Formats: sequence, structure tokens, C-alpha cells
Amino acid sequence: MNAENALRRRLLLAATAGLVAGTALPGTAHARAAVIEPDIDSTATWGARAPKGTIATLQYRPSRIVIHHTVSANTSDFSRAQAHNHAHWVQNLHMDKNGWVDTGYHFLVSRGGWLTEGRHGSLRTLTGGTTFVQGSHTSGQNNAAIGIANEGAYHDGATPPGAQWDVLVVLCAYVCSKYRIPATQIYGHKDYGDTLCPGVFHDMLPRLRQEVAARM
Ligand SMILES: [Zn+2]
Repeated sequence: MNAENALRRRLLLAATAGLVAGTALPGTAHARAAVIEPDIDSTATWGARAPKGTIATLQYRPSRIVIHHTVSANTSDFSRAQAHNHAHWVQNLHMDKNGWVDTGYHFLVSRGGWLTEGRHGSLRTLTGGTTFVQGSHTSGQNNAAIGIANEGAYHDGATPPGAQWDVLVVLCAYVCSKYRIPATQIYGHKDYGDTLCPGVFHDMLPRLRQEVAARM
């Protein structure tokens, strides 16, 4: 089974589980389909390095999402192993070059549509839905926003593979749902600073907000 098929199968299984859960609740038979809880490989799963210092847990919900791209190579390797390689590459860059305690983003979306946890604690706090870890991804927004970074470079005419886009939508819908963030509160890095990030994803923000809203 190739990566694309594995992804579709995972999404289908998750969607089916959501429908079953929805119909089990009285009075929800006609409710919109439940938000899908995506598979996210934790820092333990992909073998992240330990943080170099303390990561603050903020005792309130984030109020928005900021989308990024990582300006890594636009690989055609859509495997889960590549998603893990990319997570290591980002963490090494942020810790060794930028001198940060850990990966700056909360979550990463690979070109093949695999999700990895970025900063330690991001997944645990998302699951709880009431707190989040302080990120390091957008000046002025690190105490307010969840940072989601897409593998690849999209400032030069490239467009995201379908699997990456689909999983980004699923992840954003899940984050919005857990933290009660309206889909209108999804932004791009360049909304907050002088940067090309997140490239074409910024042009696609209206579509992203619309597709996320449709899932909630
Ligand atoms: Zn960025």
C-alpha cells in the first residue's frame, strides 16, 4: 500500500469512527459529522531530542492558529519515515542554529500528509484542550497562537500535495474544535511580520478557513 492509500484509509477509518460515535448519542443523528481526531506522531514516537530548557505551559486556550512553511526541500518522499526525518531537521535547526529550547512550532504537516508533534507538550495540552505550550514561531503571537508548519518551500510557485492539504485541514479543524477557536482565526506568518512565510498557503487561507469551518 502506498502512502497516499494509507492516508486515505486512515482518514476513512477516523471518519467512520466519528460517525459511529455521533449516532451513539441521542439527538445527534442529524448533527454534522464529528470532527476527526487525527493521528499525530508524538515527540516520543519520532525520537525527538530532550528540550534544552523549560517550556512554559500557558494556563489558558490559544485564540488563533498561525500557518507556516519550513522551507525544506520539496521532497517527493511521502513516507512516514520522511515526516520523522523532517521533524528532526526542524528541531535541529531550531535548537542548534536558532538556539531555542526545542522546535518552535507546535505541529508539523509533512508533504505526504503525516502529522508530527513539534514542541514537547503540544500534543498533551491539545488533548486536554484548556492549556498550551508557549511556542517560538511568530513574533508577538507566541503567547496566543498555535503554530502549524508545512514541510516544504511554497514561496516560489510550488503548491502543496493533496495529502498535505487534506491533513492540514483535518488538523486545523481538530485544533479549532479542541480550543474553541473560530475558523476565521486562522492566519499566516506574514500577517504578523516581514516574511514570505507561508508562501502560497497564505493565498489559500480563505479556502482553508472555509474547509475547516465546514468540518466543525
Ligand atoms: Zn513562518
